[in-house]
Amino acid sequence: MRVSDLLSAPGRAFPSLEIVPPPKGMTRTELLDGIRPFMEFSPRFINVTCHRDEFEYRPEADGSYTRRTVRRRISETAVCGAVQSEFKVEVVPHLICGGATAEVIESQLYDFRFMGIGNVMALRGDSLEGEKRFVPTKGGYAHADELVSAIRSFERETGTQGAFCIGVGGYPEKHFEAPNPETDLENLKRKVDAGADYIITQMFFDNRVYYDFVARCRAAGITVPVIPGLKPISSLRQVALLPETFSIDIPVELTDELSASPERAYEIGREWCGNQCRDLLAHGVPAVHFFTMGRPDNILEILRACF
Ligand code: FAD
Repeated sequence: MRVSDLLSAPGRAFPSLEIVPPPKGMTRTELLDGIRPFMEFSPRFINVTCHRDEFEYRPEADGSYTRRTVRRRISETAVCGAVQSEFKVEVVPHLICGGATAEVIESQLYDFRFMGIGNVMALRGDSLEGEKRFVPTKGGYAHADELVSAIRSFERETGTQGAFCIGVGGYPEKHFEAPNPETDLENLKRKVDAGADYIITQMFFDNRVYYDFVARCRAAGITVPVIPGLKPISSLRQVALLPETFSIDIPVELTDELSASPERAYEIGREWCGNQCRDLLAHGVPAVHFFTMGRPDNILEILRACF
């Protein structure tokens, strides 16, 4: 079922999840056992993140270095296959421009269609470690709106219009590269105008930021659903890490509370996120998306309390 149909279906709001493919060496059983406890809360779809290949330079006997491609994780396609065959849940593979030519993207779309996958999340991806700015791959796409257009062209060219329901990323606190929130919103609208069906936001820790973002989207003529993305903080270290990694703010009330009782960071973060979730549900959001990032226990507790 298309994510957009799930979002517009009557009934209670539901949780959705985002998982990261496991490192190579983890078994299918280990992966599925980690997801199984979430099924009690009927997530309607599970996003699977996509990670571009990395490179490393290995020293050779003659003193030179050879650049090698390193893939550290199981592919999102393999993970989607395992999850959809085990659980009755829609899978949403992430597709990124980074490191991929148009031909590679097209092959991935054929794979998804072959697997009966009708949902996809279209993203640009981040720059490689050591790169200051994102460098598009030769023969690939520079921005997510181009990727969305390419997916819609693929459908037209293969006579499968509407085969994919497309999600894109949105940044309530602005994408870090955008010069200002207005330009970022114009760029978000480009993605929707190119054919995106819904938006999933970057994580945020103050719901007012999300409500304001949705209002700005609507004022800019963006009418598709905007699904809030949440992640509970679980350690004091994340107070420094998350803003640095995702260019987001953490409210002073939360940082004060965490600094006063670092040993209770897990509980404080869980309660804060649970309160955010309850407030979002009370405001009528159709779904709440949880970034699990390999730490599922606190999210399970939030789901138990809120859904
Ligand atoms: P874009 O929409 O291309 O935007 C990137 C920047 O360019 C923004 O500043 C925007 O304002 C600007 N821009 C956009 N379009 C144009 C245009 N046409 N002309 C000029 N400027 C433009 N990363 C991964 O590598 N793998 C994942 O699985 C992954 N999952 C994610 C899931 C969610 C919900 C979110 C919110 C992000 C995810 N990311 C993932 C991170 C994402 O790839 C990065 O945030 C990336 O830097 C931007 O991706 P984007 O799709 O938003 O890019």
